[in-house]
Amino acid sequence: MKDIVIIGAGIIGSFLAYDLSQYQLDIVLLEKNKDVGCGATKANSAIVHSGHDPKEGTLKAKLNVLGNRMYEDICKTFNCHYEKIGAYVLACGSEEEEVLKTLALQAKHREIPFELHDYLTILQHEPNCSDKVTQGLYLPSTAIITPWEVAISLTENAMLRGCKVHLETEVVNIEKITAGYCVHTSSGKIETRCVINCAGIYADHIAKMINPESSISIQPRRGEYFVLDHTKEPVVHHILFPVPSNKGKGVLLVPTIHKNVLLGPTSDFIDEKDDVSTTKTGLDYVKSHVHQLVKDVPMHQVIRTFSGNRPVGNTKDFIIEEDSDFSCFFNVAAIESPGIASAPAISQYVIDELVSKRLCLQKKTILPDILKRPCALSEMTYEKRQNIIKEDSRYGHIICRCETISEGEIIEAIHRPLPALTVGAIKRRLRPGMGRCQGGFCEPLIIQILAKELNINENEVTVEETGSNVLVSKR
Ligand SMILES: Cc1cc2nc3c(=O)[nH]c(=O)nc-3n(C[C@H](O)[C@H](O)[C@H](O)COP(=O)(O)OP(=O)(O)OC[C@H]3O[C@@H](n4cnc5c(N)ncnc54)[C@H](O)[C@@H]3O)c2cc1C
Repeated sequence: MKDIVIIGAGIIGSFLAYDLSQYQLDIVLLEKNKDVGCGATKANSAIVHSGHDPKEGTLKAKLNVLGNRMYEDICKTFNCHYEKIGAYVLACGSEEEEVLKTLALQAKHREIPFELHDYLTILQHEPNCSDKVTQGLYLPSTAIITPWEVAISLTENAMLRGCKVHLETEVVNIEKITAGYCVHTSSGKIETRCVINCAGIYADHIAKMINPESSISIQPRRGEYFVLDHTKEPVVHHILFPVPSNKGKGVLLVPTIHKNVLLGPTSDFIDEKDDVSTTKTGLDYVKSHVHQLVKDVPMHQVIRTFSGNRPVGNTKDFIIEEDSDFSCFFNVAAIESPGIASAPAISQYVIDELVSKRLCLQKKTILPDILKRPCALSEMTYEKRQNIIKEDSRYGHIICRCETISEGEIIEAIHRPLPALTVGAIKRRLRPGMGRCQGGFCEPLIIQILAKELNINENEVTVEETGSNVLVSKR
């Protein structure tokens, strides 16, 4: 009998696995994909929002403000990327300036640093800012991260603390038993005292597996993006938001950690939870809206489009609760934006308000040292690089020329405690395929390395989940 089964290894499940594994508990994290962080955590704007925006009195407002204050230290702990680049909410005209005033008051009330800038001041910081803009709310505590990198580090360190992680394990049914729950999965069943449902867009399905009367309902709201190539002179230096509307935060320009720029997202309800296609209508909408914030958008630098689905609930807030009829069954559902920004605080809230009331939480006396994200070869000094290559020549064999990634780093990622088992998993850890050629040159080599290291045939290597094989046969 386990103490806790956590369903879903997105940013929420990963934080809970890491935070709970400091206690003397037998924990299992179940994930249906071959890697962690492959749901909404993989496809979003990657912004640690300041917390100025959510409606007063909501969990979103409270946990976003707290989460924003926790991220810098967390990222430092794991050597994950974090940059407090700041954001502007830009108003065009007096009507929108009124909205900025309300947001500024909200920021003041929540003790979030802010400044109101006129157009000329904004121009000093953002020379590309459109002359339609009249005023901006500057929010210096807004940061960017790489969300899946955090999820990977948290899961890997939860494993070192004793949490079991079962990948490719889909929860298909949950049954009440005397001592707790029996969780039926695609690879067997697990008995547990508690369940924490962090299944993202499928959290309503999981909630209904145990309680068909559960009122939780999740509708996917798709967000489509363009990705611009990284350039020496950035298109924008800060995150640029329009004033928010009933559709959310609007179409943004977001610099990424690796100096690309995201343009998007759209915000459209769709029927299919797993439909992450992009559409001409959606992308045209993004194109027309970014031009309202900046003078020049170099659309010729687009290297990719993608989309992600927000798990939008039926309460307009995060749903974090114990099921009303089934004790020790906790739902952490409808974690739409600002779910990334709030994730560390959501985890703490679940532990303090729910888990600690049902289980005795005793800290382990000894915890292992933190396993940090390895420093990329391209981030090292010339001297350090030379030393590593001298020790192992595979670090001198460059596989991805766009992002300068070596064979040695790829092999290391395949053999980490949380192994990179797919082309996508290697891409999320090291970035091959995220450069200008989008994997055109390096992907065949990565398939060869994965096949050799995992001792499988090349046509068994997948991009992501089972069935996404790249090669169908060998000539
Ligand atoms: C377009 C877009 C932009 C966004 N921008 C931001 C932003 O800038 N800042 C911000 O703070 N937030 C943002 N968000 C929100 C953020 O991405 C989410 O709140 C967050 O990723 C939710 O994490 P999660 O762990 O709850 O869900 P997920 O990451 O979706 O994880 C759920 C996991 O559960 C697994 N799962 C599902 N069903 C089962 C099953 N039956 N068995 C086993 N496993 C299962 C899935 O495979 C998945 O890995 C954005 C979201 C979108 C879509």
